[in-house]
Amino acid sequence: MSWKEAEEYFSNHDLVILPIGSNEQHGPQNPLGTDFIIAEAIAEELSKRTGFASLRCVPYGVSFHHMHFPGTIAIDEVVFMNYIYEILKSLSKWNVKKVLIINGHGGNLSSLQILARKAREELNLLVFIFQWWALKSLENYFRKDELGHAAAVETSFIAYLHPEWVSKKEAVNEVPKEKVKELTWFTYTKEATESGVFGVSKTFSEEKGKKVFEEVLDYLVKLVEKIEKEKF
Ligand SMILES: [Zn+2]
Repeated sequence: MSWKEAEEYFSNHDLVILPIGSNEQHGPQNPLGTDFIIAEAIAEELSKRTGFASLRCVPYGVSFHHMHFPGTIAIDEVVFMNYIYEILKSLSKWNVKKVLIINGHGGNLSSLQILARKAREELNLLVFIFQWWALKSLENYFRKDELGHAAAVETSFIAYLHPEWVSKKEAVNEVPKEKVKELTWFTYTKEATESGVFGVSKTFSEEKGKKVFEEVLDYLVKLVEKIEKEKF
């Protein structure tokens, strides 16, 4: 968009889509960019299907737990929040009232939830956070041990979007070490899995990835209709 086109867009739309990802290990078979590649693909397709503009993806996120794996890039939570806040603040100047964040990385969630609160209080902006892997219907296509980080569901998604970026021969299955469920504390991925894969990844396929993509998009299109009606 040129600024002229942006001016026109903001004169009759108050919602934008913002994909956010991470750059971190996704097992030996997937690219480091898995989370931002998926978030951006979802956002772009959602934009095509709904007519709401999608911003470019923020590719880096809070990924310290993966730092034992080469190529991972981690952003401190405070820096991450301040950076995203400035994006939201700029949007609020252009009459945007609602931002749908397509969050591609679970490690960003707690920071984004704080931002959703701050944006509503300080910018009069409603921030909605969507995470594709939280869709219950994915359990129709994948077993529980295929739903973890870098396992079959995520690998299938990338295989559908960019088959040339997934290595079939590098895909592994690894049972992660269990944590004590009654406690929450900071743990490194390396303490649970050597390969970086949580569960079964060898069963991935492009066809399953296509199903996930369509499932997520169908869900999101309906969600956007609900968000459009949301008054505040
Ligand atoms: Zn991921």
